[in-house]
Amino acid sequence: MPELPEVETVCLALSKIVNNSIVSNIEIFRKDLRWKIKENLEIDLKQEILKKPYRRGKYILIPTSKEYILLFHLGMSGSIKIISDEYDLSKHDHVKIDLKTKENQFFSIIYNDPRRFGFIDFFSIKKIQNHFLLKKLGVEPLEKDFTINYLQKKIHNKSKSVKNFLMDQSIIAGIGNIYASEILYKANINPLRTVDKLRKEHLKSIIYATKFILKKSINFGGTSIRNHLQPDGKLGYFVQELQVYGKNKHNCNKCNNVITLINISNRSTYYCSYCQK
Ligand SMILES: [Zn+2]
Repeated sequence: MPELPEVETVCLALSKIVNNSIVSNIEIFRKDLRWKIKENLEIDLKQEILKKPYRRGKYILIPTSKEYILLFHLGMSGSIKIISDEYDLSKHDHVKIDLKTKENQFFSIIYNDPRRFGFIDFFSIKKIQNHFLLKKLGVEPLEKDFTINYLQKKIHNKSKSVKNFLMDQSIIAGIGNIYASEILYKANINPLRTVDKLRKEHLKSIIYATKFILKKSINFGGTSIRNHLQPDGKLGYFVQELQVYGKNKHNCNKCNNVITLINISNRSTYYCSYCQK
């Protein structure tokens, strides 16, 4: 599933072409994504000017000139391609948005999603605070308000595992299964440890490791496991930088001990039992 760095990679690529471009046409081949795409999207979006996209958690939001938001959620297997040449539709291409940029260049954004767990929505900017996907999102881990104080408030006597805590979107937005393992490895914290047992210095390490890992992955174009490709078709090269995710039976790069694979809430979890306490 695309996590914060993969979504940010897509968002950055979109920013280069979408910023103030006009929607010249939109074609929808399948509306039944995770939720049904709005009936009149083709009509409502046509001739809208799309402003600079931004990311919130795992969502891409594109404000429009008429004060609407076009939202993309990539779900489990969604991807966005940016096409500037002739293009033959591929299997699972569900939406095609044609754009004309300020410089009179033509592009298309293609939304592809084999499992159809993603979603595209279009709603008034006034409704953004109460949007069902956005209203409960926690702090952005790359922003300044991701602090020790914030984490202490959210922990408040909770006894869930630190890995599940990191993946709880209502606490921190954007971290999923791959990066939770990588962050806890970097922070030397056992993923099974419960959050009420974490001391201030552990929270400091988690914040540092989170920012470090997410930023590094964005710089590498995200992690290409399963469906993620950058919108220009390039791989996300952070896959080569992974230290523990998918590395069971490999040796730990810090201590040479063998990496352990366990299940936490039915999700594969990788860690070094020697380094992570
Ligand atoms: Zn180790």
